[in-house]
Amino acid sequence: MSDPSAIEWTDATWNPVRGCSKVSPGCAHCYAETFAERFRGVPGHPFERGFDLRLVPESLDLPRRWRAGRLVFVNSVSDLFHENVPDAFVKRVFTVMVDCPQHQFQVLTKRHERLAKLARRLPWPPNVWMGVSIENARYYTRIAALRGVPAQTRFLSLEPVLGPMPRLPLDGIHWVIVGGESGRRSRPIKPEWVRGIREQCLAARVPFFFKQWGGPNKKAAGRTIDGREWSEVPGSGGALIRGQSRPVAGPRPHTSADAPRAARGTSW
Ligand code: SF4
Repeated sequence: MSDPSAIEWTDATWNPVRGCSKVSPGCAHCYAETFAERFRGVPGHPFERGFDLRLVPESLDLPRRWRAGRLVFVNSVSDLFHENVPDAFVKRVFTVMVDCPQHQFQVLTKRHERLAKLARRLPWPPNVWMGVSIENARYYTRIAALRGVPAQTRFLSLEPVLGPMPRLPLDGIHWVIVGGESGRRSRPIKPEWVRGIREQCLAARVPFFFKQWGGPNKKAAGRTIDGREWSEVPGSGGALIRGQSRPVAGPRPHTSADAPRAARGTSW
């Protein structure tokens, strides 16, 4: 658990599952994997088994102990809908979220098929925001699956953006986060891709959050587009709130670039 989190769009991370496996090109440089594998074989370390998926039932109740409400990113170093997470365990995670209305939970997955399969059997209180992570137009099928989920707030994490994303199906989507890949091996992002996504969000009145350009020196690259930061977030009822880094009522989302940030400074 990391509280606070270094991720721009959340307050804290909660990891009832650790470890994952790659499903698409966006996972290629998963920092969570790099981080976890450093500790493989270290006795007693939370990542003693590296990035192998592991359930962490002892972490399930952590959000109940936080009295003050916060934005909680669920499984920053895994994917709750991974095929090796039993249905019953997914339900236990959702039960905790139902029992903690003081928090706003942000769940993000690349496993859209399993999400679609389980969605009807899960509770969807307003404090659970559900998102899918997409790296290029080839994975729009994840959006189609998300739109069928009865969450009050559905969001897209387009990170790392690896190609143009024309004709994004934004109907039924309440938030879009965009970011470039960072690090030594980062793949390039083009300004026209980002501007194209922003224009589509503006036209559809979907809050747009630009996290970073990324690259080898992401601090230097910054997070402005044509001289302006974009930190829109969904407010209560999904209202558009311009230029805020925090929503008005309640809170603020998983990608290969998020897992890494969460990993830093986390006390597991
Ligand atoms: S980027 Fe996400 S889905 Fe891909 S391997 Fe890492 S944690 Fe799993």
